[in-house]
Amino acid sequence: MSTISTLSENLAGGKVSIIDLTNTLSATTPTLRLPDPFTNLIDFSLEEVSAYNEPGPFWKHHNIHTGEHIGTHIDAPVHWASGREGKDVSQIEPERLIGPAAVLDVTAEVEKNPDFLLEIEHVKVWEAEHGALPKNGWLLLRTGWDKYSDDQEAFLNADETGSHTPGISPECAKWLAEETEISGFGVETVGIDQGNAAQLDPPFPAHYFLLGNDKYGITSLQNLDKLPPTGALLVVAPLPIVGGTGSPSRVYALLDA
Ligand code: MN
Repeated sequence: MSTISTLSENLAGGKVSIIDLTNTLSATTPTLRLPDPFTNLIDFSLEEVSAYNEPGPFWKHHNIHTGEHIGTHIDAPVHWASGREGKDVSQIEPERLIGPAAVLDVTAEVEKNPDFLLEIEHVKVWEAEHGALPKNGWLLLRTGWDKYSDDQEAFLNADETGSHTPGISPECAKWLAEETEISGFGVETVGIDQGNAAQLDPPFPAHYFLLGNDKYGITSLQNLDKLPPTGALLVVAPLPIVGGTGSPSRVYALLDA
């Protein structure tokens, strides 16, 4: 039997399960709030055009209004100044969007310190136990932050000293971007960088190094606690927006049931 037939049979037979890692998309989905003087994207909203009534008696349909970087979404290289010559979201090859998931759990560290930064050493310790980060794979940072994914205020965790959410150190971002063959980096928080990453050098190092090296980001993931450290296959499905710097995306993980 072909590999795909076997997969289809195993899906139908319950031997492969699918975990949805996507937050729902609505007007209340938590979103980034840039500080002054920067301009924010609009939040997601639905605009009713017809609802089985005069404008469309037999159907219901909406216009959608949204920023590109809203809810669970992908960052394409052109999102960042360092990747301005790179791909827009429509140009990312599907081969780069489907690949093995490497799940690194730092929930305990983040409980103690919401400003936690992932260092190269944390990844090296993970690799010593689970093997090298996989080619065309996704490093997924499990922080426990998805428990705040229906609460805008808790999700951003902001006070007068900034937004306190976990992220990645400049050294680790540079190393992942330049020394590994991953497709990208996925997080449970609102962006792939720490909340206070404007203060790092370079500012927003995950964006700077990863997007500048044809690697991608996915944010606002959920249910990473249901994934093993290795063994899940990630499927990232953004809209192919021509010229788009990102797109809300459905993200699934397939794993042996
Ligand atoms: Mn983004």
